[in-house]
Amino acid sequence: MAYAEQYIDKLRKSGLRPTKQRIKICEVLFDTDKTFHFTIKELVKIIENQANIKVSLATVYNTVHAFIKKGYLKEIPLNASQSYYDTNVTHHHHFFDEEENKFIDIHQDDVDEVNIKRTIPGKKIRSVEVIAKIVSDNQSQK
Ligand SMILES: [Zn+2]
Repeated sequence: MAYAEQYIDKLRKSGLRPTKQRIKICEVLFDTDKTFHFTIKELVKIIENQANIKVSLATVYNTVHAFIKKGYLKEIPLNASQSYYDTNVTHHHHFFDEEENKFIDIHQDDVDEVNIKRTIPGKKIRSVEVIAKIVSDNQSQK
């Protein structure tokens, strides 16, 4: 039950009413040892399979975005028709497998400092996130 209280707290801090559905969303997002990447549609499927309840796309979308604002989740800035989200909110980089539409974490230490030669007057770089897009390397044999 301690978990449920923690989720209710997270929801309230994000300005959301802790409904049964939203608590289930929290369970799927935060009640795991492993962090994961997801789209809204994938998350809806996971919730419905795991919790055996119906949730609307809109509820999941609104909850995810309220959590992003609070820093409980991260949106991955990939230019795609699809938005991707991450339950790992620490600073890290990604491989993006273009064939499987999947992200794989790259630890911060596995990327050397990126040398950006241009500056914007009056601005400094706060952080750099690398997305390395990957494909199978047997492409030339096709
Ligand atoms: Zn990640």
